[in-house]
Amino acid sequence: MRLWPALILAAASPVSAQPVPADQPKLIVVISVDQFSADLLDEYRPMLRGGFARLGTGTVYPHAYQGHAATETCPGHSTILTGDRPARTGIIANTWYDTSQKRSDKAVYCAEDERAPGSSSTAYNVSPMHLRVPTFGERLKAVYPASRTVAVAGKDRAAVMMTGQRPDQRWYWDGKKYATDLKGGPIPQSVVSANIAVANLIAAPQPALEPPAPCLAKSRPVSLQGGGQPVGAGRFERPAGDYMKFRASPAFDGMTLALAAGLIAEMKLGQGAAPDLIAIGASATDYVGHTYGTEGQEMCIQTFSLDRDLGDFLAFLDRQGTAYQVVLTADHGGNDIPERERDAGLADAGRVDPGLEASKIGTTIGASLGLVGSPLYGSSFGDVYIDKALPAGVRAKVLSAAVAAYRAHRQVAAVFTHAELVAAPAPTGTPDAWTLKQRAKASFDDVRSGDLIVLLRSRITPISDTSRGFVATHGSAFDYDRRVPILFYRPGVNGRTVDRPVETVDIAPTLAGMYRVPLVKGEVDGRCLPEAPAVDCQTR
Ligand code: ZN
Repeated sequence: MRLWPALILAAASPVSAQPVPADQPKLIVVISVDQFSADLLDEYRPMLRGGFARLGTGTVYPHAYQGHAATETCPGHSTILTGDRPARTGIIANTWYDTSQKRSDKAVYCAEDERAPGSSSTAYNVSPMHLRVPTFGERLKAVYPASRTVAVAGKDRAAVMMTGQRPDQRWYWDGKKYATDLKGGPIPQSVVSANIAVANLIAAPQPALEPPAPCLAKSRPVSLQGGGQPVGAGRFERPAGDYMKFRASPAFDGMTLALAAGLIAEMKLGQGAAPDLIAIGASATDYVGHTYGTEGQEMCIQTFSLDRDLGDFLAFLDRQGTAYQVVLTADHGGNDIPERERDAGLADAGRVDPGLEASKIGTTIGASLGLVGSPLYGSSFGDVYIDKALPAGVRAKVLSAAVAAYRAHRQVAAVFTHAELVAAPAPTGTPDAWTLKQRAKASFDDVRSGDLIVLLRSRITPISDTSRGFVATHGSAFDYDRRVPILFYRPGVNGRTVDRPVETVDIAPTLAGMYRVPLVKGEVDGRCLPEAPAVDCQTR
């Protein structure tokens, strides 16, 4: 997609009261590639010649961690620009349960305002209200009042969690168009243009893409358990008007990057006296991973396509003539389909037993205690909640029965109770060495987390029915889901590869070290990374 020249429009830029450190670019670009595991970058990096290759000349941390157990999109994005793990951001899952809610839907979406009339966990009012800590954009504005913060993403939760309260612009794909939760103000011309362009794109059928040569070697159809169609040899052909197939295709990231470029030009980001921040959520890799797995021709085409689009985006930034700093990372990693993993020799890979659904385990326990229906809420792993309406004595019986049932299951790696995790200390040391309990603690919240946390064994995919479109996923407590890359890049500054384990929560304190944004010691979980370009970690 090369749409940005059409999206450019002029606008005035404000004046800052406080000077930016002389060696720091005025434009900060933070890119989150959804489900971009370190494994994926490791595999493709030697073959990529576009944006990833350029970014790879900067400071690269191949062993960065979203260290927590709940490796989902919302918790992951909440770490990137806050400096805090989910235990502190409060974003402990994409969706949690509050069984004391008056509405019939007891689930709560992470980026929803459930107080809004009519809001539900699936048809919700988008809001940052659940995020408990400030983002780097908010801290930047506190130091440089003229600083502007913008988000553009393929998912609302990515845009919301990276920019928090009161950004200047926040646009995300709502399933049909780029939309915002912000009230008032004119719609930028770039957004109007992008929404016309994307509507036209989806209205036309998409012929099959021509795979780059290395992807042809990956083209092999793999049959799936659970009723789904074979995957592995797809080329993203799509009938006219298919929004779901558009979302799970390389064109989606092309549009998101084009809109980001349009807003940078229209708002003249990086051209004022204060540093501006744009956070970009490239979501297609995640949808491609969920729909086709991570090791087929589809993800190969997606990775090469994103590499090209990122290269075009960097070339656009070069043409703007403004100095810029890029940070690229991911909200979590990902795992391939177990059918292909088994073919590759990973004998433990498999699909979850449908009997692990909280409602099924709960129904059995409920019957044994003379209850009507299931006292448990949740999915087949992660946070499991016991109905708050039950008397304390009954809840205790449900808890002990549930812990026993999960622990006895061959696909369960660990079960932690709420009380155990309340009592556990926050993790210390490098994230590669954390125990499963420490990983669970890093995404545990006293109020929002479950009465028990269920961790599945490595390579157990928590999707048993593959007929509904999603065949692979993330969300485990293991390194294929926890390990992501972090790349710091600014043009003309060569960096190096740093092999020690770091965390995505280190990004915000590192940016704070570049822009002299004060952070009190211990205020955030992350630490300033001294290998990043022109950073002063002294006071962080
Ligand atoms: Zn994600």
